[in-house]
Amino acid sequence: MSTPTYIPPARPAPRRSRQAQVRWGEHVVTVGGDAPVRVQSMTNTDTADVIATAIQVKELAQAGSELVRITVNTPEAAEAVPAIREQLDRMGIAVPLIGDFHYNGHKLLSEHPACAEALSKYRINPGNVGKGDKRDRQFAQMIEVALRHDKPVRIGVNWGSLDQELLASMMDENSRRATPWDAKQVMYQALVTSAIESARRAEALGMRGEQVLLSCKVSGVQDLVSVYRALAARCDYPLHLGLTEAGMGTKGTVASATALSLLLQEGIGDTIRVSLTPQPGEARTQEVVVAMEILQSLGLRVFVPSVTACPGCGRTTSTTFQELAKQIDDYLRSQMPVWKQRYPGVEGMKVAVMGCIVNGPGESKHADIGISLPGTGEAPAAPVFIDGEKALTLRGEGIATEFQRIVEDYIERRWGTAAAVA
Ligand code: SF4
Repeated sequence: MSTPTYIPPARPAPRRSRQAQVRWGEHVVTVGGDAPVRVQSMTNTDTADVIATAIQVKELAQAGSELVRITVNTPEAAEAVPAIREQLDRMGIAVPLIGDFHYNGHKLLSEHPACAEALSKYRINPGNVGKGDKRDRQFAQMIEVALRHDKPVRIGVNWGSLDQELLASMMDENSRRATPWDAKQVMYQALVTSAIESARRAEALGMRGEQVLLSCKVSGVQDLVSVYRALAARCDYPLHLGLTEAGMGTKGTVASATALSLLLQEGIGDTIRVSLTPQPGEARTQEVVVAMEILQSLGLRVFVPSVTACPGCGRTTSTTFQELAKQIDDYLRSQMPVWKQRYPGVEGMKVAVMGCIVNGPGESKHADIGISLPGTGEAPAAPVFIDGEKALTLRGEGIATEFQRIVEDYIERRWGTAAAVA
């Protein structure tokens, strides 16, 4: 046998950024430093519609979004912001609201102080604050409001709205090099430079370094990785990650998961957003579910109990185990808002739902609670394993309901009040 060698963990030590605080009243969300990677989302309602926006923010928050961004694009939207905040407070939803500003943010923030106060953070896109000499003045105006209300800002660069004057000047400079870089390289540099220079300008205007967060969003996976590696190496501001315009459905989910995972695995990223285009009829909360799944799959956060289910194969001719796996998964997710309060720690539970004897008992023993359903030709019996031991065998039509009850009993025993007292 060859000599075993130590296998190091896959993830290197995370990048240590400064820590920002995004707060609403007593509710504080720390971002960066040793805080967990936070989940963000963004509404797609008309912000001027107070009720629709408040309801969507509530849904996003209840799904697990720790920060919610809303568009503030018109005077009507700015006027609606304090009312949205009030509605949320009345519903007991303390999630901080982030205002997303482009073109007229300086005006809206200055002319609507109640909006500036009701928001917990302002997103400023340096490519969209104005042109020529107006740019610095209007940027400074937004920073002054942030200082007056003691709010952090995110300098959010996006390659779809990159500062064209900066890009042009960097292109000129590049053309004078003995060996010019390719255009993409110059654009990477322009994105990073725009973010960092704007952050330094904000600091020069009086912001503390820990009140500034950065993002540099692009829509290609490899581009995002290149840009964020450079950004992370050049500053210690907390970084917000997201693949912009990721797209719909499977494509958007996979592209976001790939891009974000590559960076998070390197310890880069303090908040994330998955910019999914909802499919017709799909809930906006899907972007929160995907973001949480990315963090949980990487082992960075634990939000919901995990269900290990085999993919099925020729050994399973019925769909029973697929239905059971889905039923249990749906059930665990739907219960989490209540369980989080009632059973602290339950989110770390592992449940296995397996299709046959090949991997069923083994995988079920690794879980806290698992069931191995009978495959084709096996006796019609489903052994249930609890804490690695075979506990009982289920038979007949009511296996799914019976197993759900066993899971509930297990949770009560392990994380319920009696367990806490014992
Ligand atoms: S556990 Fe059994 S049914 Fe499931 S994939 Fe493996 S062999 Fe197939």
